[in-house]
Amino acid sequence: MNSINIIGAGLAGCEAAYQLAKRGHHVILHEMRPSLMTPAHKTDQLAEIVCSNSLGSENSDGRISASGILKEELALLDSLILSCAQDSRVPAGGALAVDREKFSSLVTHRILSHPNIELVREECTELPDTPAIIASGPLTSDKLAESLREVAGERIYFYDAVAPVIMRESIDMQKVFVSGRYGRGDDYINCPLTREEYAAFYDALIHAERNLPHDFEKGKYFEGCMPVEAIAERGVDTLRFGPMKPRGLTDPRTGREPYAALQLRQDNSDGTLYNMVGFQTGLKWGEQKRVFSLIPGLEHAEFVRLGVMHRNTSVNAPAVLDEFLRLRERPNIFLAGQITGVEGYMESTAMGLVAGINIACGLTSWPRESAIGSLIHYLMTTEPKHFQPMNINLGLFPEAPDIRGKKERALFHRNRAIDAISELVKAL
Ligand SMILES: Cc1cc2nc3c(=O)[nH]c(=O)nc-3n(C[C@H](O)[C@H](O)[C@H](O)COP(=O)(O)OP(=O)(O)OC[C@H]3O[C@@H](n4cnc5c(N)ncnc54)[C@H](O)[C@@H]3O)c2cc1C
Repeated sequence: MNSINIIGAGLAGCEAAYQLAKRGHHVILHEMRPSLMTPAHKTDQLAEIVCSNSLGSENSDGRISASGILKEELALLDSLILSCAQDSRVPAGGALAVDREKFSSLVTHRILSHPNIELVREECTELPDTPAIIASGPLTSDKLAESLREVAGERIYFYDAVAPVIMRESIDMQKVFVSGRYGRGDDYINCPLTREEYAAFYDALIHAERNLPHDFEKGKYFEGCMPVEAIAERGVDTLRFGPMKPRGLTDPRTGREPYAALQLRQDNSDGTLYNMVGFQTGLKWGEQKRVFSLIPGLEHAEFVRLGVMHRNTSVNAPAVLDEFLRLRERPNIFLAGQITGVEGYMESTAMGLVAGINIACGLTSWPRESAIGSLIHYLMTTEPKHFQPMNINLGLFPEAPDIRGKKERALFHRNRAIDAISELVKAL
């Protein structure tokens, strides 16, 4: 049996490698780090999580989300990435959040110890001639991106931004309170702001110096990962309806909702690090410290990681991919992960799993009713001119028959998707 080359040992590349290897294929997994680093990765570990440590919500206690359905599907399909995430979880309310170091080291161990996987630490600069999976992610190296552009033609660029991480011990706990929204759990540290404090913070934020990348193209941000300063620019109250919304938070000192609030979420198992939820930013580093320390509780915050902006590379899927994630011009090359045009950790993982199974089990039709099938459907059917990378959401699922009530519709989508994937699993 021929070996399958996989380029990129991120979330998608590792998932694809595992799906192939467990079915008896020999995999050569190429990873350029540490000899060539990306602007966001910091380690030589495989499947390094570069920004938020949250992998999105899970279905529990009657709460059903598209992200939760995708996780249930990945569990049925024996996802390596999901299982390592579950083994490295930290508390985060209804979300699956991980200790990022533990998570990457678990994935690295599982890959390195698999007898069918050979890891080669090198940059690949060309698309291989033999069957291969390209899973080089949003920060694909320039040479490989160029080689891909020659075949895939159109590429889209936009900008994502990373949120800062703070040492818990540097937070002034007298000024903040610990609680989830609507009193659900106590997984978040909330920094409440009065009207005056918010006004001062807002003014500093919109006037702060930014670190625009030199090839910045008219600010093509992905809406789900927009820098906090770009959200603020849209109007004085946009933050109070976005990452600083106070809804469902009661400050125990006043018994009322604050005017605005920043939430901090645990970032490691030990609970020593917290990230600023929704505060991705491209401000200059000195400016981040100055502006964010205006938030009550963060006056002396010690930032262990500051925000950065980065380029995001992905193909225009509806123009260049087929439903099996192959390049139409080069059907021996499969794409996987974020580069296919999905967005998000679990979505990228899912596209790694799909590419791996499509090679290992033969080209597979992924059920349209499932979250995975809905993502593929989106990639295939969007008008190329308007194509934007996409997170999983219930709007991508096929319509539910006339079912009243949001919860009931979500449950219908979930049950139909899980039935469809369970059937597929039997056939694989
Ligand atoms: C800065 C940043 C912040 C993000 N924040 C979030 C977030 O908060 N939440 C979220 O859900 N998603 C976020 N994303 C998206 C996230 O990266 C993806 O969802 C996910 O990591 C993509 O998985 P992937 O496997 O496609 O790529 P990656 O996980 O990036 O893996 C790609 C791998 O390929 C390697 N590689 C690149 N080029 C080559 C080459 N030529 N040869 C060999 N190896 C190569 C890289 O070193 C890397 O290890 C963020 C992305 C970035 C870059």
